[in-house]
Amino acid sequence: MATLQFKNVIKQYRQGKQSLQVIHGVSADIADGEFIVIVGPSGCGKSTLLRMVAGLEEVTGGEILIGPRVVNELEPAERDIAMVFQNYALYPHMSVFDNMAYGLKIAKVPKDEIKTRVDKAAGILELGHLLERKPRQLSGGQRQRVAMGRAIVRQPQVFLFDEPLSNLDAKLRAQTRIEIQKLHRELGITSLFVTHDQVEAMTLAQRMIVMNAGHMEQFGTPEEVYNRPATTFVASFIGSPP
Ligand code: ADP
Ligand code: MG
Repeated sequence: MATLQFKNVIKQYRQGKQSLQVIHGVSADIADGEFIVIVGPSGCGKSTLLRMVAGLEEVTGGEILIGPRVVNELEPAERDIAMVFQNYALYPHMSVFDNMAYGLKIAKVPKDEIKTRVDKAAGILELGHLLERKPRQLSGGQRQRVAMGRAIVRQPQVFLFDEPLSNLDAKLRAQTRIEIQKLHRELGITSLFVTHDQVEAMTLAQRMIVMNAGHMEQFGTPEEVYNRPATTFVASFIGSPP
């Protein structure tokens, strides 16, 4: 596990000859094992922040640290992170076990170690009885859990979630939320969870980062953000009482 630090992080996208700045100097210190939610309206830069941590986008300015390491220049595979997306594509022809084991096989993890890790993840996610099934023989919720299992078995230092619940119906969304909380209780992995839904943010976060147009408007506990919004934007976005 590890701390996660943003130090004056800036992102500019190139658009032809122009450049467009979408993250304007974000700084935040996240403790080892914290569950942090990044919340804000569509287009405010949530995914961009996450993708820079993952190494899927270059950092234009500032630094991102995982533990003691500045990760700006590291390849995604060297960063000890795992990411759960909204569109979790499972391999349809592989069993649940093989779906979870696949990344470890590629990384040449020994076979018995793979089995130990998959069995442990399956235990936590209540997938133990489903390991021989194919994805099409699973419910939507079970498939979502397999996608999370695939991330857990890599034993990452940091977990990144980019709106993993937004394609699910209300019931499944609530179930999966509970699943994610349980996962965090059991494994205690430092987590960054992105959503545009303020209610989801308030329920899941230990602390939350409220973003607006590439700026961090506030970083605090749900209670602080709700009761003492730092800006008028935060107050109206969160729906704080006037
Ligand atoms: P969010 O996840 O909060 O909806 P994004 O991080 O996806 O926001 O996008 C932030 C801003 O950056 C938006 O204005 C978006 O249009 C722009 N953007 C995102 N990806 C790219 C890209 N690859 N090239 C240019 N602009 C981008
Ligand atoms: Mg996004």
